Parts: sequence; C-alpha cells; structure tokens
Amino acid sequence: MKIIVHIDEATQWQEALSQALPQATVLTSEAPAEERQQADYLAIWKAPAHLLQEQTQLKGIINLGAGVDYLLKTPGLPSDVPIVKLRDAGMGELMADYALYGVLHFYRSMDRYREQQQNASWQPQAVVEKSQWSVGVLGLGAIGGFVASALQQAGFQVLGWSRSPKQISGVHCFHGDGGLTELLGQVQSLITILPDTEATKHILNAERLAQLPKGASVINPGRGSLIDEQALLDALGNAEQPGHLRGALLDVFQEEPLPTNSPLWQHPNVIVTPHMAAPTPLNDAIDQVISYLHAFESGEKLSTVNPDAGY
Ligand code: NDP
Repeated sequence: MKIIVHIDEATQWQEALSQALPQATVLTSEAPAEERQQADYLAIWKAPAHLLQEQTQLKGIINLGAGVDYLLKTPGLPSDVPIVKLRDAGMGELMADYALYGVLHFYRSMDRYREQQQNASWQPQAVVEKSQWSVGVLGLGAIGGFVASALQQAGFQVLGWSRSPKQISGVHCFHGDGGLTELLGQVQSLITILPDTEATKHILNAERLAQLPKGASVINPGRGSLIDEQALLDALGNAEQPGHLRGALLDVFQEEPLPTNSPLWQHPNVIVTPHMAAPTPLNDAIDQVISYLHAFESGEKLSTVNPDAGY
C-alpha cells in the first residue's frame, strides 16, 4: 500500500502512519515525482493539483480537514475515487469552545463593558437566565452537532438547522427554507457551521440578516462564503447610525487572510480571529486516518463526501 501525505506537518504524519502501518510505503508530497506515482491513497490538505493529476490507481482520498471546499475545486480531482473527510476528530470540542466564548461575549455583555471602559463608565448590565438566551446553530454535522449539544449542556436554549431532519437531545431542530426563517426570527446569537457549497453561498444575505431579532449577534467559524460581508457591515451600522445587529465574532472570510483594508478590522463591534477556531488535533486525526485506511482496505462501507452536494 502506498500513501502520499500532503499537509503542513507532513513529516509527523509520515512517521505516525509508517509506525501504525509498517507494511505500507508512506511518502510526503516532497518525494521525487517518480516515487509519488501509483499511490493507493492520498491523505491531503490543500494539495497542489499535480499531486492528484499524476495518480493512476487511487483507491481513496482522505481529506485532512472537515471542509472539502478546496479539494472539490482542485483541477484534476478524479470523479470515480471515493473521498472521506475528517469527522469531528477533536475539532468539535475546539469549535464548541470558540462558539461558547462568542455566545458568552454577548450574553455577559463583554462588548458593552469594552465600550464603557473607554469612558470609565461603571455600569453593570442585566443578566437574563441562560435558558432565556436562544442560540441558533446552522449546520448540525459532525462539528456543528457537537457544538449544538455543548451549548445546550451549558444551559442555553439551542435551535439547530440542517438540510435533512435531525434529532439532537435538548435541541430544537429545523430544516429546509421555512425552518431557517423560523429559526432566524427567534435567536439572540447565531452560529454558522455550514460547509462552503453552492447552496450555502451568502446564505446570510441582507434579507436573512434582517430576519434576526434586533440586537442579535453573529458568530461565524464556518466559512467566509456563508455571509455577504457588505450586508453584514450594513446590518451592523456604525457609531453615528447603529444597525440592526449588535456585533459579530468572525473567524473566516471571503478572502483570507482578511485584507488589511477590510472595514471589518476597524469595526468596533466586530472581533476578527485568523481562521483558528478549530485546528485539527494531530493525534485524533491520525487515529481517524488509520481507521479509514483499514476500512478502505477491508472493503468496509464508508460515509463518503458527496461531490454534488459539495460536502
Ligand atoms: P459536516 O459535513 O459533518 O456537516 C455539515 C452540516 O451542514 C450538516 O448538518 C448538513 O446537513 C448541513 N448543510 C449542508 N448544506 C446545507 C444546506 N444547503 N442547507 C442546510 N444545511 C446544510 O460538517 P462539519 O460539521 O464537520 O463541519 C462544518 C464546517 O465547519 C466545515 O465544512 C468547515 O467549513 C467548517 N470548519 C471550520 C473550521 C475552522 O477552524 N474555522 C474547522 C473545521 C471546520 P445534513 O446533516 O442534513 O447533511
């Protein structure tokens, strides 16, 4: 079995996979071209197109992350090779921390205290019960579902939304266009953990942002394409003319790194983080990749990426 690895820490991956699969040849994408050919599996994250194009007998592609948007747009991606992606693999917990931080920021009025501090203003803000603070989670997949449950267990009222109907204990689940409108109308904090697909592009446009209650906040650790950034800026308003929305915590952007001239950097009610919400924990991910390789080799049925749906 020949496996080619392409990711930033490729040497660590190469060592771990070689140790777990002593009979396999594990190479990084830095290996000479003639050695890279005729691989059985690619375990890759943001790989160059040539790595896919030069292969002739691939049995499977393992995407070393949860989002497959980059991979599905890579020229030369074979249409007949099954693709699997990391599912949770420790990212759910990191994402839940990020989401909880964002919800608490607005729920405990940290944004208002930051503003008050500019004027040395000592003014405690009222705190409602957590069960009275409703949080919407768009996307209830491996990571989004984990986040919805974690926020529910933290005491918040959680509403979730996905493409197909879902059941998550303690979470009010919606689906479909009608379900989205219903959810948006009643959440104080909205978290977007959807994949970047044709169907989710600008899912939060001006019209949908306006459906959120006045004073709602948006937390986006999903993908930049989910939000129309100009519509978000308009909905946030400015010092002279406050908008419909209270603030946003954003980890992902239409263009990354976020251009230095983006108004989002300077907006007083926006927190920008550099796509750091849920980096893949190496050990969990390696264990999952090893189990994928065993499953591929033994012909086990795997839940694969659906390129038509885009995730
Ligand atoms: P999954 O593929 O497991 O789940 C995707 C979820 O989105 C599913 O619930 C799916 O619905 C739902 N969905 C997809 N398309 C639509 C649609 N058109 N309408 C309604 N719901 C839809 O993904 P993960 O939970 O593992 O990850 C989600 C995303 O989080 C990734 O794609 C990635 O973009 C982002 N991410 C960001 C990171 C960061 O550091 N900022 C780190 C890791 C991930 P259904 O269940 O019905 O299929």
